Amino acid sequence: LLPAAADVGAQSSTLGVMGGGQLGRMFAHAAQRLGYFTAVMDPDVASPAGLVSHVHVQADYLDEQGLAQMLKRCAAITTEFENVPAGALFTLGAHLPAAPDAESVAVCQDRAKEKAHIVRCGVPCAPHAVVETAAQLAAVPEGLLPGILKTARMGYDGKGQVRVRNRAELDAAWATLKGVPCVLEQMLALDFEISVVLARDAHGMTVHLPVQRNLHRDGILAVTEVPAPGVSAALAEEAVAAAARIADGLRYVGVLCVEFFVLQGGQLVANEMAPRPHNSGHHSIDSCDVSQFELQVRCMTGLPLVAPRLHSPAVMLNLLGDLWFDAEGRERTPDWAGVLALPGAHLHLYGKSSARKGRKMGHLTFTAATAEQARAAALQAAALLG
Ligand code: ADP
Ligand code: MG
Repeated sequence: LLPAAADVGAQSSTLGVMGGGQLGRMFAHAAQRLGYFTAVMDPDVASPAGLVSHVHVQADYLDEQGLAQMLKRCAAITTEFENVPAGALFTLGAHLPAAPDAESVAVCQDRAKEKAHIVRCGVPCAPHAVVETAAQLAAVPEGLLPGILKTARMGYDGKGQVRVRNRAELDAAWATLKGVPCVLEQMLALDFEISVVLARDAHGMTVHLPVQRNLHRDGILAVTEVPAPGVSAALAEEAVAAAARIADGLRYVGVLCVEFFVLQGGQLVANEMAPRPHNSGHHSIDSCDVSQFELQVRCMTGLPLVAPRLHSPAVMLNLLGDLWFDAEGRERTPDWAGVLALPGAHLHLYGKSSARKGRKMGHLTFTAATAEQARAAALQAAALLG
């Protein structure tokens, strides 16, 4: 459970995270607040989580010596990146408590397995077909077009996806994606998108963040709002119940995010799962009495789960690397002083060494007494950041 005072840096008080990105960094912050030490495994010398952790095992995720280091250093393991090979989690999970477990991560790592799991749980998902062979490509039903061809593995932030209108484009897209295993999904008419972040413990107890409404630009999350505008209590309940069924079906332990589409007819459709805290739950650090990262710590250490309470309406803006460049493509520093002068601003920068277009550099959450005030401040910030 909680670290003992005498345990400075000891294995019994060190929590390990596979992956050193911003999610690992915010996990480390939450773990450290509870008195834990953290160990991060990530090959990048300047990984955001490695920079703030007591131990940084700088090695590839399947590196045997690196994994041995993590085993020696850590009392329990989690992951912040679903593209960490499930094999690494299998190795660690054989010796240490791992939340989530390797099998759950393996399902989330593969869109075909993920869709099959969602269907098995009786939750609606987009009509789709698995494309692993040329024969399967040729046999794709006409009704799935126009659609989106997505690589089964390693996709995130809209990467590894091609929108196709007809068979010729589909064939070309599969060639562009080098013929790797893919899933073709029917293009759905979305009204908007929502997500549910939940935490489930080993006894099957589940708690969740309030349903979030998400706006994506170019396949990347841009804005999250809570409470979710336009989401009725009934729809929110349906989404939370569906996410819980998906977690129960995996006997999942840890933090899980399920993304949903709300179609123009109002129907709820599960899109994908992430076996970890999620970008759309970042607001919880500032808007809830328990954040998604603290829930992750509690899950992996067997500490009690409590239902997070939203104490302030919130609007979160993702800060992509694009903001670090002006219209002529020259590098600049965004107007942080202007942003921080706005009421309710919570600025989170991830300590990444260089800005690139589309790269997640940080996020900015506005909390306020009312949703209108939070939105007004977010709009002012967006104007300032241009
Ligand atoms: P990623 O792993 O990159 O997040 P997603 O499957 O979530 O991939 O797709 C990214 C975004 O693309 C979604 O949030 C949504 O805006 C859009 N999108 C994905 N699939 C569909 C679909 N079948 N119909 C309409 N829009 C889609
Ligand atoms: Mg997504």
